[in-house]
Amino acid sequence: MKDGLAEYRRKRDFGATEEPQATMGRRGADAESVFVVQIHDASSLHFDFRLEVGGVLKSWAVPKGPSRDPHERRLAMPTEDHPMSYAEFEGVIAPGQYGAGAVIVWDEGTYSTEESSMTEALARGHASFRLHGHKLRGAYSLIRTRRRAGRDAWLLIRKREGRQSASFRGDAVDPVRARSVLTRRTLRQVAAEAEGPEP
Ligand code: MN
Repeated sequence: MKDGLAEYRRKRDFGATEEPQATMGRRGADAESVFVVQIHDASSLHFDFRLEVGGVLKSWAVPKGPSRDPHERRLAMPTEDHPMSYAEFEGVIAPGQYGAGAVIVWDEGTYSTEESSMTEALARGHASFRLHGHKLRGAYSLIRTRRRAGRDAWLLIRKREGRQSASFRGDAVDPVRARSVLTRRTLRQVAAEAEGPEP
């Protein structure tokens, strides 16, 4: 099997970062596929949108985060595949390490899709799926568009579904005030706890 996590591993020093080591996921065939949205206070504050596809978390950095408003198109820049265990990662990536800064799990859940193969849909540059999260619930598409800075740029867009999505007009999440769906903590609280006194 092709090692989809080589880039993830190459970028990190697992003696210095608390992030999970890269192992390929092994899940039952009937298990539902998961998604996670993390907020990452790195050199630029951004959201990371990740979908389980083929035993790894396919990942995009989304500067403004996913929107529940179907009128909004959110830029999503692909990043390296992450291991399945990353879906539960919340904490602080140590100073000097790749992506140094606090991470919270903003939303998580499962997704369903009518695509016969998500791998093929993403290779074609257009994948549709339905998120079943705590905060994000509804149909979304990821669409590959023009290239930016030598990389493919994608758009993450919510599908219009009658009145269901109308109440989220102009939806914007303030990443500084946002709380973890796992621990209710903000980025600042996660960072402050990491700086606490040594035991
Ligand atoms: Mn990130």
